[in-house]
Amino acid sequence: MSEKKYWDNKIETLPQSEIKKLQEKRLKEILNFAYTNSAYYKKSFNTADVKPSDFKILSDINRFPFINKQIERKRQLKKPILGDIDAVSEKDVVYVSASSGSTGIPTLSPFTKQDFDEFQNIESRLFYAAGVRKSDRYVHALNFSLHIGGPDVIGAQNLGALCIWAGTIPSEKLLFILKEFQPTVIWTTPAYAWYLGEAAKKHGIDPAKDLAVNKIIVGGEPGGSIRETREAVEKLWNAKFYDFYGLSDLFGAFAGMCEVRNGLHVAEDYVLVEILDPKTNKPVPDGGQGEIVLTTLRKRARPMIRFRTGDIGTINHTPCICGRTHARINITGRIDDMFIVSGVNVFPSDIEAVVRGIPEVTGEYVIHVLKENFATKYKVEIEKVANSDKTDEQVKTKVSDALKIRLGVRPKEVIVLRDGTIPRTTHKAKRFIDERK
Ligand SMILES: [Zn+2]
Repeated sequence: MSEKKYWDNKIETLPQSEIKKLQEKRLKEILNFAYTNSAYYKKSFNTADVKPSDFKILSDINRFPFINKQIERKRQLKKPILGDIDAVSEKDVVYVSASSGSTGIPTLSPFTKQDFDEFQNIESRLFYAAGVRKSDRYVHALNFSLHIGGPDVIGAQNLGALCIWAGTIPSEKLLFILKEFQPTVIWTTPAYAWYLGEAAKKHGIDPAKDLAVNKIIVGGEPGGSIRETREAVEKLWNAKFYDFYGLSDLFGAFAGMCEVRNGLHVAEDYVLVEILDPKTNKPVPDGGQGEIVLTTLRKRARPMIRFRTGDIGTINHTPCICGRTHARINITGRIDDMFIVSGVNVFPSDIEAVVRGIPEVTGEYVIHVLKENFATKYKVEIEKVANSDKTDEQVKTKVSDALKIRLGVRPKEVIVLRDGTIPRTTHKAKRFIDERK
């Protein structure tokens, strides 16, 4: 018997018109469910003077209020332990993840048994779309401690891959696993994929030749969607990059690249994606950049209705050549990290793209944003590769010119450092320093 083309043939190839109908049906249910069972949503809908019965067609969603991380955190503190956004009693909760707390106290994300099973089914769908099969050996190198990315491994295991639950072990140990067991797929962050590849070379292992990894799944940072980063890591490993996207506030990954790798297919039967202009809150047409706003269509323990992610991205509803009909998104950066220089919106991801595309530099970088005479300026620290025959001055000019071309605004300064000066981060990279505050 030939192998099936999709994890879930029916749902993944449902025409867009049918997906819309399903989303409407599920939205009606979840709005009702949230209003009836969550003290927070009852109050917030009442304050906004809107009722679940006001929702008739998909565009009616814009009548409902937004929620965000700050609200989530506040409500959690209000009513320990899970807060009053949750819509089921604690006895129905079987799992809670905790966010990294990188922007404040960690937030918990509760799941019922059904929520958790559905979450794992989505993971299997994403792994399958990325080409992971029973014959693969898969290494899950994400943080297992509290983090929602941990249980994603079950999705790979459920589809039959041989799974190694590595977690965030020291790189020497991970390299040992990669060398001894020759896994074919690894999931990590873009920063760590880069770091690990470089670390391998220092240990005399050429990731492109000596290791069997042919797929690198990444998530947790925008790097996976930055073409230059992708290409640099792919070359280092002789492997293909697959970007996945998810948030602990909802569940693990709910969007991922198929083998065509032109955007991340959203599991639209579970999550409604809106791309909104952050200023007007109006929908942005396909292809335009806006804030990613998400609504869970099934999650019962804690429904998320119109969650403002603070992530900037685009959406594309045209059919993909893989045959899947679900819309594709691309994540381009974080609103918080965006800064404006001479009227131009600058995303750190654009700077990364430039730095990763220049062979004379290592690809490591730190961005400083500062205020000078009431104007925002930026500086970039980069490293010259050890064996470069270029002078620091030549490298400086090349980077500065490339930034000017890509962003439209030249940095105040490019600081050229020696190879290895910038600390190699293992997981979420800290590359953005805002000195304006
Ligand atoms: Zn596709």
